Amino acid sequence: MTRSDPIFRLDGITRSYGPLVALDHIDFTAENNSYIALLGPSGSGKTSLLRVIAGFEKPDSGRIWFQGRDITDLPAHERGIGFVFQNFALFPHLTIFENIAFGLRNGPVKVTEAEITERVRANIEMVGLSGLEDRSPDQISGGQKQRVALARSLVMQPKLVLLDEPLGALDANLRERMQTELRAIRERLNVTFLHVTGSETEALAMGDKVAVLDQGRIIQYGTPDEIYDSPNSSDVALFLNRYNLFDGKLQNGTFRGSFGAVSVPAVRANERDVYAVRYDRTQIFDTETAALPGPALPARFLASEYLGSSIIFLFETADHKTVEVDHHLSFGEPREMTVGQDYILSWDPEQAIVFGKEMAR
Ligand code: ADP
Ligand code: MG
Repeated sequence: MTRSDPIFRLDGITRSYGPLVALDHIDFTAENNSYIALLGPSGSGKTSLLRVIAGFEKPDSGRIWFQGRDITDLPAHERGIGFVFQNFALFPHLTIFENIAFGLRNGPVKVTEAEITERVRANIEMVGLSGLEDRSPDQISGGQKQRVALARSLVMQPKLVLLDEPLGALDANLRERMQTELRAIRERLNVTFLHVTGSETEALAMGDKVAVLDQGRIIQYGTPDEIYDSPNSSDVALFLNRYNLFDGKLQNGTFRGSFGAVSVPAVRANERDVYAVRYDRTQIFDTETAALPGPALPARFLASEYLGSSIIFLFETADHKTVEVDHHLSFGEPREMTVGQDYILSWDPEQAIVFGKEMAR
């Protein structure tokens, strides 16, 4: 199998709970040997989708293909797909070693004691748990539990591992380290990881590809750069949390919003008229500045927040909308500003993305 061959494919997967449609005709093809992030807000169907792929739940309709084979009617334990649960789900009465060995001892294939020892040891070493084999789950930290959950799945040598918000329970420092480690482990094993997250930062940092899920539908699938630079709907732009989104009215190539009227270069078909400007493309000017790069949006400076490599400045417009400006420190020191004072926000209109009900021109 090469990387471009699909490892799994979903054909029209639908799953409802009573009147609620949790998965809505999902068609999706996942590349072999890749890291795929599945990004979606809470309740968008992320866990439901993983459970259907793993075989813990049956779809109402649609087929699931895995390594070229239709597995829709195959029970979970015969699918050969790994699952790392959101809450780790370790067995409290078993040691770390036995937690990891569990699948080998209870799986469909008989494995010798010598092979169990060897495979468990190798996985313990790979996830960095050497020395903790004999402890019980309540004697290790949250980050270590996460590693046990991962090793327990990888020891079965799956070609696909489903991870349900695997870093959600970890603190920020540990989360960043585990991001790097998860990527390294996946690369070493040549498996595909489907990693569910509600964090756009995590999805963009970790995925070779990012799938955006909203109300049971995959609304965009692409590389992190494609998704970030070119969201295909205002909903994707909203989830990215990196765009100022302005409501307004688009007519004959002119968008009218709180910043006045601006002619727009191109329009992406959308259910609503929305004008989007990236936080890091929004610029700050004094109120008396004569030459602006584009529209003029008066806004009051509220606060700033240091994020290490950049500073976020928060503003409020006359219609009580919060607007964010992201200043990368690589571009030099930020300007001095006074909280409570009025400024003008502007941007190069060529860098805006306009979503509209009018057909794209
Ligand atoms: P996510 O993981 O993205 O937060 P879920 O897949 O858990 O979303 O849930 C998607 C939708 O399906 C939600 O509205 C949720 O309430 C509903 N849902 C999930 N599982 C069940 C269930 N077993 N019974 C009824 N509704 C459910
Ligand atoms: Mg979930």
